[in-house]
Amino acid sequence: MRWVKALFALLLLASFGASALEQVRVQLRWKHQFQFAGYYVAKEYGYYRDAGLDVTLLENGPGLPGGISEVANNQVEFAVAGAGVIAAYAEGQPVVAVAAIFQHSPLVWLVLEKSGIKNLHDLAGKRLMSAFPQEQMVDLLAPFPMESIPLDTLNWVPSEFSVDALIKGHTDAYAAYKSNEPFVLRQKGIGYRLIEPRTYGVDFYGDVIITSRELAYRHPGLVEKFRDATLHGWRTALDNIDGTARLIQSKYAPQKSLEQLRFEGQQIRELVIPDMVAIGHMNQGRWERILDLNQQLGLIKDKADLSGFLFNPQANKSQWNWPATIFALAFMGALMVLYQFRRLNKRLRLEVARRHEIEQELRSQAYTDPLTGTGNRRALMEVGHRSFAMSVRDQEPLSLIMVDVDHFKRINDSYGHDIGDLVLCHLGEVLRHTIRSDDFVGRLGGEEFAILLPGSGVESAMAMARRLKNRLSVHSFTLNPHERIAISVSAGVVARGDEDSCFEQMLSRADCLLYQAKAAGRDQIQRESTLDETPLPPSNIALIKDRQKN
Ligand code: GH3
Ligand code: MG
Ligand code: MG
Repeated sequence: MRWVKALFALLLLASFGASALEQVRVQLRWKHQFQFAGYYVAKEYGYYRDAGLDVTLLENGPGLPGGISEVANNQVEFAVAGAGVIAAYAEGQPVVAVAAIFQHSPLVWLVLEKSGIKNLHDLAGKRLMSAFPQEQMVDLLAPFPMESIPLDTLNWVPSEFSVDALIKGHTDAYAAYKSNEPFVLRQKGIGYRLIEPRTYGVDFYGDVIITSRELAYRHPGLVEKFRDATLHGWRTALDNIDGTARLIQSKYAPQKSLEQLRFEGQQIRELVIPDMVAIGHMNQGRWERILDLNQQLGLIKDKADLSGFLFNPQANKSQWNWPATIFALAFMGALMVLYQFRRLNKRLRLEVARRHEIEQELRSQAYTDPLTGTGNRRALMEVGHRSFAMSVRDQEPLSLIMVDVDHFKRINDSYGHDIGDLVLCHLGEVLRHTIRSDDFVGRLGGEEFAILLPGSGVESAMAMARRLKNRLSVHSFTLNPHERIAISVSAGVVARGDEDSCFEQMLSRADCLLYQAKAAGRDQIQRESTLDETPLPPSNIALIKDRQKN
């Protein structure tokens, strides 16, 4: 039963693995407020959980880093940044913009109504207060040079991190969040004016979701899931500002009044403009314009290439199309198997052919006399038996010529055994070229050969024997250009007779006739009962040295 427990444990592990949420940290830009409504809603309404994400929202505050460096250093997965993130990117920070939540920047110059300040020009020479670092308020600065007010003429006063400084007269203008500080003045019944960059043609994105280049390229799916869940949260939040305000007050910002949160919500809705623009939409042209303004302000040196700045899940997502890859791999595998199979098959066929060849070769070797190229004794006997049987069966004639070289010993003795071999080779060649295609010649041994003539009677065999003798006399063996060795043969010719019961009987009768030919003086053919040729005197036929004239 141990394996059952193991299986159960495995299943348990697997189910835990399947339900494990991916941990995601989000660095917010400021303290909890309606500015981050979309994130709260996505978290509280379970949009993140449904996307497999466990999201932690990290509050920010004065003096804390903005989130760009945290993202770049992979301390958090995402951060809410301002449009100033483009400058960080241009300076080489590995950050990517995922979605622009605010289509317009919330930054405004806040002035008291009673100050008489109505426009940007009126701010020239006036005291300015800002809690933001320069790079986070580019849109508040950019309009000055555009309106011919050099930046170095601006009169900055130290930040008191509170709009009270404006009320108290410690500054003439306060760099504010449209959704925050104006509410304080409104609550206090203090008249105010907003000087907005948009009026001067400076229209930056507001809050932007950023992530690291690494995450965008390695886990574009995660980035996409977080983005989509967040945008869903934003849609829900802005559809129900009142309910969202309650949620934020109860769970995130209890110090804020519902009224304040509702005000924030209204202002933010105007910045997100969800009825006009798909939440999160970004346009490269606008980013380029923002980049240009950063450059004009001297905040960045070189114009950066924006191609890596905007999150593009299609480009960032790993290029692998897994189903296609698996299919391709399987296809390639099948092709390889097929190829291997064909190769093996081909090899097998070649091997079979080679073996067949070897077999044939061995076979022919087994039946061939290596010296003369004629059949060997074994072959002669086999062919003889078969031909005999067929001859009996088909009542066809079968003849046999037995041939022996006359005085061959003398050739060996005179020229040596090697020359004797060459003479035998020569004889074999003459024999093979003399017989017909149906005939068979084999070496019985030594300088003794036999020719089988299936379908031939004794007369045809006699004619063949004579032809052989003629050929041998014409084609004497050429020892060297000056010397030829004449060879003569004796032969016995028999045809299968009805009294023959086997091939051996034909052989033995032919052997007898050959012996008779020898006895009768050699260089002649003997057939049964009649002497075919007149024997020559032995002295003439023994060995003829044919010395040629040169
Ligand atoms: P005959 O006319 O009576 O046949 O005289 P012969 O000299 O041919 O006598 P015989 O047939 O008895 O002798 C055959 C000789 O052939 C004996 C042997 O030394 C020689 N011989 C047999 N086989 C070979 C061979 O493969 N190579 C060579 N060079 N000589 C062989
Ligand atoms: Mg002989
Ligand atoms: Mg012999």
